[in-house]
Amino acid sequence: MRPTTLLLQIAGNGAHRNKSISFIGLGRMGSEMAYNLFSRKLVESHGAARFVVCDAREATSAAFAHNFAQQFPGVRVEIATTPAEALLASSTVVTMLPSSPHVRNVYSEEDGIIPALRSLPPEAVRSTLCIDSTTLDVEVARSVAAAVQNTGASIVDAPVSGGVAGAKAGTLSFLVGGPEEAYRRAHPFLLHMGQRIIYCGESGAGLVAKICNNLILGVQQIVVAEGMLLGQKLGLDPKVLASVVNSSTGACWSSSVNNPVPGALPDKSPPCERDYEGGFATSLMLKDMGLATDLAVSTGTPLPLGKKAEKIYADVVSEDPELSNKDFSSVYRYLRSAYPK
Ligand code: NAD
Repeated sequence: MRPTTLLLQIAGNGAHRNKSISFIGLGRMGSEMAYNLFSRKLVESHGAARFVVCDAREATSAAFAHNFAQQFPGVRVEIATTPAEALLASSTVVTMLPSSPHVRNVYSEEDGIIPALRSLPPEAVRSTLCIDSTTLDVEVARSVAAAVQNTGASIVDAPVSGGVAGAKAGTLSFLVGGPEEAYRRAHPFLLHMGQRIIYCGESGAGLVAKICNNLILGVQQIVVAEGMLLGQKLGLDPKVLASVVNSSTGACWSSSVNNPVPGALPDKSPPCERDYEGGFATSLMLKDMGLATDLAVSTGTPLPLGKKAEKIYADVVSEDPELSNKDFSSVYRYLRSAYPK
């Protein structure tokens, strides 16, 4: 490994590793989570904590470090150029990556977390805690967790629910899987980024809970779009229809918070009010529906609605690629244009 400035500092100052937190993956969710984690840890530690960031795009890491220094003058966020460097710098490492291949890369490949763990003395390995908040395939997560645990380090899967708004406000729910001792160690760090920390069971259990939740959510968002479309075709004002549904048995998050029709929730500001910008990308919802249908195949579970919903999101992404990065409630826009008046 090329000896970067950060690595040279670590070599000369290994004692700081236990006071240091590394955050890998500064995307829509990760940047907000890292900001909350670092700023709250800074207060809790009376300025003694150290922070390191790492992203595949170095400009993203640099922008984060710059913004943080502007908010907290005198506090320096170090930039790690590889996940190995981030691991060597800190005994606590949080990862927030797009999906399974990225987690495999960051943990298992050369310059990744697991080879770096193997280069550390046993005491430093035992003090290491990895928190992976990515939503990914359960089997991939379990095999990565087993490889981390084989080195003597600890790891939890801690996927989140609450979206970008929850990440920014620090109100996320974390669904945690792993040994109970690792869960207890992760808890105070997770509390800096979220409000509800739910222990779901052994490694992978947090992901199972997350994938089942998103299966339900993905189906609901489509049927809310269908209901809102049908009502309007029959002459109903979307505001009236939304208020009926939201005070009746059809109410759900997709109708009452993430309603896909502009103007339907006058006192709220869902992504549809910003041309579906922000929120939870359709491509990520498609990924999560795929994770659910894969689990259904491997467990022999019938998923007729889930399979159909996965196909609808796949059609949205392939037929209207602009919607791939927009909030998944844009499935409403897709349905509306697929079946014009
Ligand atoms: P994102 O694509 O915005 O961010 C991912 C970040 O990871 C990017 O900055 C990317 O450069 C970085 N990255 C990719 N490969 C890397 C590597 N090898 N090394 C270092 N960095 C790497 O994704 P996001 O919206 O922040 O979502 C992250 C995870 O959270 C996903 O698994 C997603 O399903 C889940 N999630 C997202 C939301 C949401 O509303 N966006 C809500 C709940 C859960």
